[in-house]
Amino acid sequence: MSVYLDYNATTPVDPRVVETMLPYFSEGFGNASSIHSAGQHARAAVDAARESVARLVGTTPGEIVFTSGGTEADNLALLGTIAASGQTRKHVITTAIEHHAVLNTCQALEKQGIEVSYVRVGSEGIVDPDDVRRALRPQTILISVMHANNEIGTIQPVEEIGRIAAEADICFHCDAVQSTGKLRLDVNRLGADLLSISAHKIYGPKGVGALYVRPRTPLEPQSFGGHHERDLRPGTENVPGIVGLGKAADLALAHLEAEADRIASLRNRLEESLLDSVSDVRVNGDKIHRVSNTTNLTFAAAGGEALLIALDLEGIACSTGAACSSGAVEPSHVLTAIGLSDDEARSSLRFSLGRSTTAAEIDEAIRVIPRVVERIRAFSPRAATIIAR
Ligand code: PLP
Repeated sequence: MSVYLDYNATTPVDPRVVETMLPYFSEGFGNASSIHSAGQHARAAVDAARESVARLVGTTPGEIVFTSGGTEADNLALLGTIAASGQTRKHVITTAIEHHAVLNTCQALEKQGIEVSYVRVGSEGIVDPDDVRRALRPQTILISVMHANNEIGTIQPVEEIGRIAAEADICFHCDAVQSTGKLRLDVNRLGADLLSISAHKIYGPKGVGALYVRPRTPLEPQSFGGHHERDLRPGTENVPGIVGLGKAADLALAHLEAEADRIASLRNRLEESLLDSVSDVRVNGDKIHRVSNTTNLTFAAAGGEALLIALDLEGIACSTGAACSSGAVEPSHVLTAIGLSDDEARSSLRFSLGRSTTAAEIDEAIRVIPRVVERIRAFSPRAATIIAR
């Protein structure tokens, strides 16, 4: 039996999404910018998807810009805001636990002379809004804080941070890639001027996402071409992908609470059972303020990479950290930011459940994981001493 527990890395495309997309690869192939009826048919499909995405984030269709995914949405938000400021204000606030799509964009900005404050988080993996307030400077142009963390699932107090940004008249960007479909999104309640989402985390296709842009938010395009997407993101629209994102958004909205409850109870069963049956395990990050599908566990003195490979051989797929940086040897920046040592971070696994996860799969995971941890520890010369302490 193969058990996929890596839904935060990506999700399978829902068959209903595939079905909705298929015609746009063949008879509905038109270019949405063409005047003829084939073009108009594609345009209507893109417009309908824009309405669906707008509904998902609580806004109107004119405020949605389609992109090639969460990474591009984050890049456009950060780089576009700085470009629009004419670099007169030169300070950005973000957090130490953002996804690399934000962190590496901030590093690129630093090379251009922009100063960036990386607000720290405590052991629970949640940003303190007062720390964001304290980081404000007269030159601050943008605050970027994620909604839910991709590695430990913690939910950030974005509503409060949105209020702080509004009071200071500063643009607020929220990376909602990991909260979409897991938490109800409402850009007005969150106070977000810019908000990123990605289709492949919500059972849509890879390579498509969107940026919500509040009216009158200063933003400059970061690539140049035709007049697509309100001049903010040129290039012929990926019609099948956008249609897929629209359908995925409809499904996410229709089933959100029921799905979250079902998944939370499976996640809790997995977590409680592993805490019971394996020695020296601990849960990383706040257990209350986190999305329903994620648990990140440190198995003391069991190398995460070795565990991951051994579990994969037994048919269980999980992750040692952000999927986008797997292959990198550094320990997870999120786990070290919440106070884990490099060794502890390297002995941690993320299990993320999703729409297709079944009770039988969780039973299988509960059966296999303790055995594999024991085996990996038996091979680790350091395990005996660490666990004995
Ligand atoms: N932001 C977060 C929080 C993510 O988890 C990811 C993907 O893992 C991204 C951004 C990047 O999204 P995409 O894979 O669509 O580029």
